[in-house]
Amino acid sequence: TRLIDDDEGGVLFVPAPPSSSSSSGFGHSSLERQRKRLPVYKHRDAVLYLVEHHSTTIVVGETGSGKTTQIPQYLKEAGWAEGGRVIACTQPRRLAVQSVAARVAEEMGVKLGEEVGYTIRFEDVTNPGVTMIKFLTDGVLVREMMDDPLLTKYSIIMVDEAHERSLSTDMLLGLLKKIQRRRPDLRIIISSATIEAKSMSNFFNIRRKSLAQDAEDCAPNKQPAILSVEGKGYAVEIHYVEEPVSDYLQAAVDTVLLIHEKEPPGDILVFLTGQDDIDAAVKLLTGHGQQYGSHYSDLLVLPLYSGLPRGEQDLIFTPTPKGKRKVVISTNIAETSLTLEGVAYVVDSGFSKQRFYNPISDIENLVVVPISKASARQRAGRAGRVQPGKCYRLYTEEYYLKEMSPEGIPEMQRSNLVSCIIQLKALGIDNILGFDWIASPAPEAMIRALEILYSLGIIDEDAKLTSPTGFQVAEIPLDPMISKMILSANDFGCTEEIITIAAVLSVQSIWVSIRGVKKEFDEAKLRFAAAEGDHVTFLNIYRGFLQSGKSSQWCYKNFINYHAMKKVVDIKEQLHNLMRRLGIAVKSCDRDMQAVRKAIIAGFFAHACHLEEYSQNGMYKTIRSSQEVYIHPSSVLFRVNPKWVVYHSLVSTDKHYMRNVIAIDPSWLTEAAPHFYQLRQPNPIPY
Ligand code: ADP
Ligand code: MG
Repeated sequence: TRLIDDDEGGVLFVPAPPSSSSSSGFGHSSLERQRKRLPVYKHRDAVLYLVEHHSTTIVVGETGSGKTTQIPQYLKEAGWAEGGRVIACTQPRRLAVQSVAARVAEEMGVKLGEEVGYTIRFEDVTNPGVTMIKFLTDGVLVREMMDDPLLTKYSIIMVDEAHERSLSTDMLLGLLKKIQRRRPDLRIIISSATIEAKSMSNFFNIRRKSLAQDAEDCAPNKQPAILSVEGKGYAVEIHYVEEPVSDYLQAAVDTVLLIHEKEPPGDILVFLTGQDDIDAAVKLLTGHGQQYGSHYSDLLVLPLYSGLPRGEQDLIFTPTPKGKRKVVISTNIAETSLTLEGVAYVVDSGFSKQRFYNPISDIENLVVVPISKASARQRAGRAGRVQPGKCYRLYTEEYYLKEMSPEGIPEMQRSNLVSCIIQLKALGIDNILGFDWIASPAPEAMIRALEILYSLGIIDEDAKLTSPTGFQVAEIPLDPMISKMILSANDFGCTEEIITIAAVLSVQSIWVSIRGVKKEFDEAKLRFAAAEGDHVTFLNIYRGFLQSGKSSQWCYKNFINYHAMKKVVDIKEQLHNLMRRLGIAVKSCDRDMQAVRKAIIAGFFAHACHLEEYSQNGMYKTIRSSQEVYIHPSSVLFRVNPKWVVYHSLVSTDKHYMRNVIAIDPSWLTEAAPHFYQLRQPNPIPY
């Protein structure tokens, strides 16, 4: 039988039976049996055939069908990792990278970091020359192109979770299309849960006129093949709320308790938006356990979000003990990236946290926004993996039908493009507008980004990367404003302090969650608080941590997140190495905090704000676009309200809040970026 109609790039449907319930195996042979039960196993030969004969293969299949964990193994078994070549599989999320790599290593019975490894930013768990299957974030793969533009060490690149349309995935797809022209031997697999397979296929379709010529070279078919893995889930009964809920967090908690009371066994998966509300829900649910005694003590409540320590991640995948009911409270990472066995109930808040950038105000932040219908369907599907399930939507049916948008907006179209542009430029792509985007970014966002890059001295009048600054910034795997801050620290003699600050800013938060013990927490914070602001406070905390001998006890006492601090130490070490590579000496300014603040401004002058003294309630306005902003309550400058500040990032809830704020002298702004302020301000800064 023909596997596929090559000319049409047609769709192959092979229905597969639902995968049966599986207890997580221990021995290797039981894992082997589990592998064979996955829907994708039926398509093993088809996958290998298509990959052999087509430059690009698109694999569409339901979450949990085995795409991520199995396909790389099939490819390895078929010899694609022989002769020192590597099979790459990208994920948009770091946590997913770590988790699937660990799983695949376990299935193959090898130590993680040897035949199977992973790379995420600041963490490389691979063994060059030994690693055959490498999981990595799409962002890291784009970065690898700077050293190896044609990605020559890879025989196959599987771009996974393509439906997520992350900024880096979109960049990667455009870049891979270019690489493919130069490397006919390279195979690309694009895989996802739901996808506009046709549009993806059109994107990779190279015009016929080149086909005849390629045929002579015995090159693979340039037309993408599409393979559909029909992992048939069980029916999921959908329940809606009758009236809109005002507090989805409380509603989610109530729903979990209701399910637990009324419904037969089966784990519960709750979709909330981020660490804050997830931690709050965990507290509420475990609080119930204590309050009501034995009835709820059989709930095993677990959070799931990126940044979760390894040990806690593993609990998520451990089978639920007998007599217990697992409740996993997750961000949208459990929507398609990770599959949890045993889930029979899904509680969907209807929200997720997404990046949004407004090029007019030049404000990018993480906002809680309604999900799309496509996401809602994915979430519901998680309830029907092993048995018929139920999904409780915390929004009305009318809302779902009439107001929810059918698809999400690609991240490309709602992001600040500064990093993306630097990376493309570092890869020699100067005409960014002419780049082969799968969906074009907004021109306003592009212009804004170019303007910022110019003011940071990263690009010149011709929009080319400056030397050395622009090229050095491109080498540092951090936000360009942070990279610029680090490079400028060299001029102020405070690289040591600034890379510490950069490391702290790279972890989510070094404080532990504060609910319930507000007073003690505030006292702890005061112990480290510096009048200059949060960045200097970080230096005090870092010093304290080192002096304590990196003690977890010390962290506990001071409401500091021990895992985050260990990560900080680790990232700092890597930044040290990077500085060495860039030929920059790491020097301390010996508590000259003015130098530190000036270095911060060199990167973040665009985030300067001025206190509106008449406002009485601590309102600031950004110098740039006169946006109203406020100091976040977590900042040591909350209620202190210095006249002039520079912030690191904004979070928006009811207002725009500045997180990580430092007090400055306004004259430093014009010093750091005269052109920026003078060009934009008809009347220069009002002193
Ligand atoms: P897909 O990529 O198609 O969504 P995966 O390859 O991620 O599917 O998952 C296939 C199966 O492997 C799922 O049934 C899932 O439960 C199981 N699995 C994946 N990761 C783990 C893990 N860390 N621990 C236990 N089981 C896992
Ligand atoms: Mg997957």
